[in-house]
Amino acid sequence: MAKNNYDVIVVGAGFAGLYMLHNLRSRGFSVRVFEAGGDIGGTWYWNRYPGARCDVESLEYSYQFSEELQQEWVWSERYATQAEILKYANHVADRFELRRDIQFDSHISKMAFDETSNSWTITTADGEATVSRFCVMATGCLSSTNIPAIEGREKFAGGTYHTGSWPHHGADFTGKKVGIIGTGSSGVQSIPIIAEQADHLYVFQRTPSYAIPAYNGPYDPEYERERKANYKNYREEAKNSRSGFLLAINEDMAMDVSEEERQVAYDKRWKRGGLTFLGAFNDLLTNKEANDTAADFVRSKIQEVVNDPDLAEKLSPQTVVGCKRMCVDTNYYQTYNRDNVTLLDVTEHPIDEITTTGIRRDGTEIELDELVFATGFDAMTGALAKIDIKGSNKTTLKEKWAEGAKTYLGVAIAGFPNLFIVTGPGSPSVLANMMPAIEHHVEWISDCINYCRETNCNRVEASSDAEEAWVAQTNELASHTLFPTCNSWYLGANIPGKPRIFMPYLGFQRYLAACEEIVEKGYKGFSLS
Ligand code: FAD
Ligand code: NAP
Repeated sequence: MAKNNYDVIVVGAGFAGLYMLHNLRSRGFSVRVFEAGGDIGGTWYWNRYPGARCDVESLEYSYQFSEELQQEWVWSERYATQAEILKYANHVADRFELRRDIQFDSHISKMAFDETSNSWTITTADGEATVSRFCVMATGCLSSTNIPAIEGREKFAGGTYHTGSWPHHGADFTGKKVGIIGTGSSGVQSIPIIAEQADHLYVFQRTPSYAIPAYNGPYDPEYERERKANYKNYREEAKNSRSGFLLAINEDMAMDVSEEERQVAYDKRWKRGGLTFLGAFNDLLTNKEANDTAADFVRSKIQEVVNDPDLAEKLSPQTVVGCKRMCVDTNYYQTYNRDNVTLLDVTEHPIDEITTTGIRRDGTEIELDELVFATGFDAMTGALAKIDIKGSNKTTLKEKWAEGAKTYLGVAIAGFPNLFIVTGPGSPSVLANMMPAIEHHVEWISDCINYCRETNCNRVEASSDAEEAWVAQTNELASHTLFPTCNSWYLGANIPGKPRIFMPYLGFQRYLAACEEIVEKGYKGFSLS
C-alpha cells in the first residue's frame, strides 16, 4: 500500500537531485528525494579513488543558480579533489537545508505509472511505496558501474575495488602488488598515485588514452577575484559555447594554416593544459586529416616523456583524439618510467582469467594482492535500465530502449508521462560541462511542472513523432563528426550487447536554443492534458 503523496519525487541526490529539490521546493512544490547512497553527492560520494578530481576547472564546475553561493565558496585548486567537491556539495545541502527532504539508503527498484490518477508509484528495494504526480530521474549518467565479465572474476581472494564505488575507509596499497584494469579517466587519475604507494603496479591496458597535462595547482587569488567579479559574463560566454565551458575554440581550421602554425597552436594549448587542447582548431572533431595532426602532436609528447620507446609506442593511442573522452592527467605518462610499474597490453595478449591469486594472461600468472577495476560505467542509460519502470501502456523502459535509447530533448520519453530525466541520452550532458547542463535541465523541468500547475494540467507527455525527430537529429549531428568512429561509451560500445547509438546531443548552445523554442511554441512536441 503506497503511503505519502508528493507533487514530485526525485531519484538521486547528486548535483542534479540537490538542485532539483531546491528549485521545486522554493516554488512551493512538495518534493521527496530518494537516494541509494548513504549521503548526498552522487559521483563525488561514490568515486573516492586516489587522485579523483574534476577535469573542468573548479570555478566552472560549480553551481551558478545562487550568486551568494558562487561568491562565498572558495576553491583551493584549479581542479578540485573529490573531497573538496563533496565538501562543496555538503555546503550546498546545509545552506539550502536540503537533507530534511532526502531519504538515504533508499534504492528505487520499481516505478509504475497509473493511467487513472496520472501519477507514479515509486517503490524502494525494501518495498516502501510512495506516490507522486511527477517524477524526476536524477540518477546520473556515470553512476552504474561496469565490472567486465572476465572469467574467474569472483574467485580473486585479495581486495577488489571499482573506482566508481570506492570504500569510504580508503585503501592502503603500501607494500602490495596491485593490478589495475582500465586506462580511461579514472585509471589515468589513479595510476600515478597507486604507483607511489604500491610495491608493484601492473596496468592492464586495452585502449590507450590521450591525456593532456592538468598543470593543477592552487588558484591564483587575483585570477579567482577577476573570475568572480565577472562571473556573470563568463557563465554567459560558456552557455553560448559548444560545450558549456570556456574551451576557447579557435575559429581557424587546422588544415588552413601551415604546419609550423599548427605546432605553435598545439604547443600553446598543451602548455595551458586540460581539455581546452581540443579547442586548438575548429575542425578537430570533424576532419580526420586535421585530427591526425593533433593526435601526432600528443603522441610526440608521449615519446618525449616516456624513456623506453617501445613502452611509449604502447601508450600511444591510434584512435581519433577526442573520440573517446580525453583525459586530464598529473604525471600519468611519467609514471611509466618508474621501476615498479609494468604496462600489459591486453589487446595483444588478452586476460585469460582471474584466479584466486592474480591474473592469468599469455600463459603466465601475475600474482596480485589487490585488484582495481577502473573499467567505467554503463553510461547514460545504465542506472535507468536497472529500475523496473513501467510507463502508460505497461511497457518497461528497458523494453522501449532495447534497440537504443530514445528521448525527446533528453528530458522526456514518449509513453512515460510525467517523467523527466536530468541530462539523459539525447541531451548534451556528458559532452558538456555537466554543471550548467544540469542547471539548465532542472530549470526547464521545473518550469514545465510549474506550467502544468498554472494551466491545471495533470499529464505531460512527449509525442512519439517529436521523439523520433529528436533522435534522428541527434544522430544526424553526430554523423557529421568523428565521434562515431571509435568504441566509446558515448556510443554504448563499452558494454557487451548494448545497442550502439550515439547518445549525447552535440552543441550546448544549439540545444539551449531548441529547448527555448519548444517552450515558446507552447511545449511543441508535448501533449499536456
Ligand atoms: P550523479 O552524481 O551520478 O548522482 C546520481 C545519484 O543517483 C547517485 O548518488 C546514485 O546513487 C543515485 N541513484 C541512481 N540510481 C538510483 C536508484 N535506482 N535509486 C536511488 N538512487 C539512485 N563532469 C564534468 O562536467 N566535469 C568533471 O570534471 C567531471 N568529473 C567526473 C569525475 C568522475 C570520477 C566521474 C565518474 C564523473 C565526472 N563527471 C564530470 C560527470 C559527473 O557525473 C557529473 O558532473 C555530475 O556529478 C553528475 O551529477 P548527477 O546528479 O546528474 O548524477
Ligand atoms: P572509461 O573511460 O569507460 O574507461 C574504462 C577503461 O576500462 C577503458 O580503458 C577500457 O578500455 C577499460 N576496460 C573496460 N572493460 C575492459 C575489459 N574487459 N578488459 C580490459 N579493459 C577494459 O571509464 P572511466 O575511466 O571510469 O571514465 C568514465 C567517464 O567518467 C570519463 O570518460 C569521464 O567522463 C568521467 N570521469 C572524469 C574524470 C575526471 O578527470 N574528472 C575522472 C574519471 C571519470 P577500452 O577503452 O578499450 O574500452
